[in-house]
Amino acid sequence: MSYSPLELAGKHQSVESCWESYRKRPEFEGFVEFVISLNSLTEFLQDKGLAGLTHAGQSLEQLALSLFGDDSNHPLPAEAQVEISGLMARLSQAMQQHLADVKLRQERRAVHGEAGPVADAPGFRSIWLLSKQAERWQDMLAQLGYFGMKASSHHYHELPPVMDDMPMLLLDATGCELEEWQHRLAALRAQLPACRIIGLSMRAEFNLLQSSLAGGCDICLLEDTPVDQIVARLLELGEPVDLEPFRILIVEDSLTATKLVQRALDERQISTQAIQDPKQVLHALHQFNPELILMDMHMPGCTGVEATRIIRQDNHYLSIPIVYLSGETDVALQVEALRLGGDLFLTKPFNPVFLNAIVKSKVERYRALRRSMYHDSLTGLLNHTSTKTSLEASLSSMLAQGQPMTIAMIDIDHFKRVNDTYGHPMGDQVIRSLAWLLRQRLRKTDIVGRYGGEEFVVGLPGVDAAQAQGILDRIRTDFACIRHPYRDQHFSVSFSAGAADHTISGDAEDLINAADEALYHAKREGRNRIHLARRTPNAA
Ligand code: GH3
Ligand code: MG
Ligand code: MG
Ligand code: MG
Repeated sequence: MSYSPLELAGKHQSVESCWESYRKRPEFEGFVEFVISLNSLTEFLQDKGLAGLTHAGQSLEQLALSLFGDDSNHPLPAEAQVEISGLMARLSQAMQQHLADVKLRQERRAVHGEAGPVADAPGFRSIWLLSKQAERWQDMLAQLGYFGMKASSHHYHELPPVMDDMPMLLLDATGCELEEWQHRLAALRAQLPACRIIGLSMRAEFNLLQSSLAGGCDICLLEDTPVDQIVARLLELGEPVDLEPFRILIVEDSLTATKLVQRALDERQISTQAIQDPKQVLHALHQFNPELILMDMHMPGCTGVEATRIIRQDNHYLSIPIVYLSGETDVALQVEALRLGGDLFLTKPFNPVFLNAIVKSKVERYRALRRSMYHDSLTGLLNHTSTKTSLEASLSSMLAQGQPMTIAMIDIDHFKRVNDTYGHPMGDQVIRSLAWLLRQRLRKTDIVGRYGGEEFVVGLPGVDAAQAQGILDRIRTDFACIRHPYRDQHFSVSFSAGAADHTISGDAEDLINAADEALYHAKREGRNRIHLARRTPNAA
């Protein structure tokens, strides 16, 4: 994930100046501003995967929320202000250290002519293992390498300088006493406040886990976790986060109430549209395609409940979250409103941070639901239907720009044997590992779909068949190197692929068929190879 360090510094600066202002004029309004800016910063840190800084931001946010109250609670008692200032100082220190690291790395990169936004998803491409027994993990490091991670091992007490991207740290607990472990963890947290730290091979002891999580460990993997599960977990952590701004529709007759809601949501990357007349709601749904509706209860000519019932008559909008924002405190009416299609009832005046948290969790759940409609549940790749739709769209856009495009069909070799020898669940794991490898190796703009059982389709826009052969061949070689653990042994599997580019046909369906035919040749020629479709003379 890349982000601009300037934006990060700006958000932090705004928290600092809001706190300054509150100290000078300790009124409720000012405290609300402080909490909103703090919430905006922590959400940003979380979105960018800056784990350590997120911890620091969140503990401050928790404290601020617990002191929120209303007019009568402000000014806050002196000791509460001191407590906030203490956490502010800790956050500042971590932030400054992180920004200094980023600057240093940017300067190094600028020397190599690649300045720009920092690719800082806690590395994910680079993983450092810190261990007293690195030999034990050689197999895991090799597996990670096949999936495209730069995994390296270092001695437990060593910490090489961070060069390119921020690494993810795997800290092996093997052979460590509790005190030594806590010490090392604290030191690493201080040195690399933003990076993700994962405890490896940890005993399932309450005290150890509690102190590790509190001490800055993001995830604790227990000592009996199999290597393939560790690898799967690390790959999941590397999945890109969906950063599309949320789209929220506000249905509210009062302009002042609308402004208040928009102010609370504006701080986050949320795009809002507001309508005053509930009769416009169907039109707005169609035009704006929101992912959540904030609905007022009392509006002239139509209540929020009536508008909600009307929305729910259309199958398209059965699952869109609808949250009521209203001054209504009558519980019977609230229950009625929920029964008739609403999801949640928030009473005014609302806490802006709470509103943000509700919006976030509801939209994320809604997105997950939508995703399951277009994606395959075993692998998370596009399903058959959406693969075809995406290939068609991508091919016609490439042809319109005069660009090449290749479609490849991939099928695992002798897969029936895998199922027969190691069982169906192991077969599923092999399918998943190929899906991960494809996603790791291909670009964001490439199309990767699970077409059927152990068959995948890949669309490579801007790439011709000859280039595709090179790309697919590297993936083929690495896939064949993956050692799939089974009991105390390992086995390997290969795949074959057929590929066809735009010179064969300008129609996606035809290209898929040509790729499938080429795949058949690859199988017949002995498997574990890529075969390119050739243009037949009369097809020219
Ligand atoms: P070939 O090299 O010719 O492709 O041989 P193969 O054994 O892979 O043959 P084929 O492609 O025809 O067999 C696919 C097998 O994959 C048949 C089916 O039982 C199995 N399969 C299909 N879907 C799944 C799945 O989701 N999970 C598992 N474990 N197996 C599946
Ligand atoms: Mg109203
Ligand atoms: Mg097959
Ligand atoms: Mg097969």
